[in-house]
Amino acid sequence: MSLKRTNSDLLFKKAKTLMPGGVNSPVRAFKNVGTDPIFFKSAKGPILTDEDNNTYIDFIGSWGPMILGHSNPIIVDAVKKQLELGTSYGAPTGIENKLAELIKIQVPSMQKLRMVNSGTEATMSCIRLARGYSGKNKIIKFTGCYHGHVDSLLVKAGSGVSTFGLPDSPGIPDELAKLTYSCPYNDVDSVTKVVSEIGDDLAAIIVEPIAGNMGFVPGQSHFLQTLRDLCDKTDAVLIFDEVMSGFRVSLGGAQEIYKIKPDLTALGKVIGGGLPVGAFGGKESIMNQLAPIGPVYQAGTLSGNPLAMSAGIALMTTLIDMNPFQSLEDSSKHLLSSIKEMCDAKGIPFSHASIGGMFGFFFSEELPNNFDEVVKTNDELFIKFFNTALKNGIYFAPSKYEAGFISTTHNSSILDQTIEKVNLTLKEF
Ligand SMILES: *Cc1c(COP(=O)(O)O)cnc(C)c1O
Repeated sequence: MSLKRTNSDLLFKKAKTLMPGGVNSPVRAFKNVGTDPIFFKSAKGPILTDEDNNTYIDFIGSWGPMILGHSNPIIVDAVKKQLELGTSYGAPTGIENKLAELIKIQVPSMQKLRMVNSGTEATMSCIRLARGYSGKNKIIKFTGCYHGHVDSLLVKAGSGVSTFGLPDSPGIPDELAKLTYSCPYNDVDSVTKVVSEIGDDLAAIIVEPIAGNMGFVPGQSHFLQTLRDLCDKTDAVLIFDEVMSGFRVSLGGAQEIYKIKPDLTALGKVIGGGLPVGAFGGKESIMNQLAPIGPVYQAGTLSGNPLAMSAGIALMTTLIDMNPFQSLEDSSKHLLSSIKEMCDAKGIPFSHASIGGMFGFFFSEELPNNFDEVVKTNDELFIKFFNTALKNGIYFAPSKYEAGFISTTHNSSILDQTIEKVNLTLKEF
């Protein structure tokens, strides 16, 4: 069986004349897996339909937001209702209060919060606020953690743990990159050493407490607690980037699972129900440094947009009511352990992990704990698995450096179909 891609291919050809690489966000271009991207026209529940009418069981879920499945009628109705009332006023609305309150009740470390339009805006604002509040400049991040395309955060370590950050992308001045230190994830000793090297100029440590951008790699409890302690000792701001893990792993995010309170939290993805939304928030004393009551400037013409707020409220209300996280985790564990059995039978190395509605798998005997270990997992097996699964109608993330996402619409029949399709996929190995 091979996939009919006539329309997708034509659209991609046209798109390449209009947008760099034919896409509006790079991972969509499928460059990692040696194939062209598929263009979609609709989605319902767990199923995506492409422009050639092929259907796929979706395990990306728009990179997280589709935790209740695509085109969920509750969200669709809420957006339709708001649409009739106006799409943007550039002025305060009651529905901003409502979404903010829904978030704050579930994530109590966010004593005050502010809405923005993307995860990148949320982390960017956290960094500026942490610097403005602390009066300090340097920040520590962890290799393999992605925090959006913020200049200060698109930085990787050099070879040694204590080398200055080098920019990951042209266009970022060395002067700025030098203020960002990157340490290996889940490595207590290296971050402790770098904190003492930086001395009294550490503004913030930013981390994905459950990482989803080097594949799925949960933080270790001891590691995250060490970050809390180091920030307390140096008066630095601890920022949890929960843009992906927020309302994906549990209602209270990773901070609830690990019982560690960050000073600031960045959110995005799920809280917008598929519309462009981000939010950041935390300690009142820090958040009150923001304009208009404080000196740190931050703003947005479409921030708190009514359509986005109404989608977010509908999703969040339903999610809080369902609290589906244990059942999502059970579903992905069932799926992944079935795949593992099939891989074992074939002698293919396979490891996997799941928390709530997020999961990951690697072609390796052992689960990786940091970026370097992820790099070492098998690329060839991943690429073959991805492409063969796609041909069989399963849409997994097109890179071993991405996580997987499951929704409440992935019921037992969908999971059985997936297992059958993986079985077909592995027959070609
Ligand atoms: C997706 C993501 C971002 C960036 O969010 P955008 O909405 O793409 O700007 C930041 N941090 C993490 C952890 C993410 O997964």
